[in-house]
Amino acid sequence: MPPMNVDLHSHSIASDGLLPAMEVAARAKAGGVDVWALTDHDEVKALGEARSAAEAAGMQFVDGVEISVSWSPKAGNGGPKDTTIHVVGLQIDPANQVLLDGLRQIRSGRDERAERIAFDLDIAGIPGTLAGARKYAVNPELLSRSHFARYLVEVGKASSTHQAFHHFLTEGKPGYVAHQWATLPEAMHWISSAGGIAVVAHPGRYKLSQPQLNEFFAEFKDLGGGAIEVMTGSHTTTQYNHFADVSRCFGFMASRGSDYHGPGESRIEPGALPPLPADLKPVWHDWF
Ligand code: AMP
Ligand code: MN
Ligand code: MN
Ligand code: MN
Repeated sequence: MPPMNVDLHSHSIASDGLLPAMEVAARAKAGGVDVWALTDHDEVKALGEARSAAEAAGMQFVDGVEISVSWSPKAGNGGPKDTTIHVVGLQIDPANQVLLDGLRQIRSGRDERAERIAFDLDIAGIPGTLAGARKYAVNPELLSRSHFARYLVEVGKASSTHQAFHHFLTEGKPGYVAHQWATLPEAMHWISSAGGIAVVAHPGRYKLSQPQLNEFFAEFKDLGGGAIEVMTGSHTTTQYNHFADVSRCFGFMASRGSDYHGPGESRIEPGALPPLPADLKPVWHDWF
């Protein structure tokens, strides 16, 4: 029997994905996925629709969420300086009140951040981006930089959403504003209260030095963190190998997820990543 095709990271229009959960499920099925998780940013409202669609298509479904966290290394290790880190919660109870209250609290900061992004872009000579971004945000509580990026493409200020991030929406660029998300202990508490397991999303993507990332992993482990994404659409082949080693060294389980956002905005289709290295313990090892 071929190994199960497990894809535990994807987005719908409930956050910054391009497709309704039902259509993401169809893409996962078409990609040969057997076990699928939807992990919208700071939001669980599409999980019911996703589960129904997954089960109707004969896939196993895993309730997930991707929580935005602000984390800073200690003084002496280049800190304090906040970095945004994404922590995925898997096998969560989407009705858990601690989780729901926490997620609502971080979602509520997004509007004010969006106003500041739009203000900065206005000064940089691009007016109207708040209304422009809002047009793309199907969930009004989840205005994301991705929605700004789509608007910047629409008005010809960038040739792709990736270019929009590169020129306007990342640190040091005219439309970037710092923002305070959840603390790491908060996010871990919400996930464990909801009975879930915490997974570091795309660890290769953060602008942290190796010692800083090691400090983060140690703190994550102390707080009960269980796994890291090894195979993700954000990693290069070199990073697959590197984070497989990190998972061995720290004793983390390993996860696999495309981080699919929709047609044209993702490098990798659902289910298309290589399998996890055989010696790693998959985060799903005791789920079925
Ligand atoms: P936000 O939570 O609103 O800050 O938006 C974060 C999202 O922006 C991520 O989940 C990605 O989907 C997207 N994103 C971040 N950096 C980039 C990039 N360099 N290129 C394309 N999309 C990006
Ligand atoms: Mn995203
Ligand atoms: Mn992410
Ligand atoms: Mn993601």
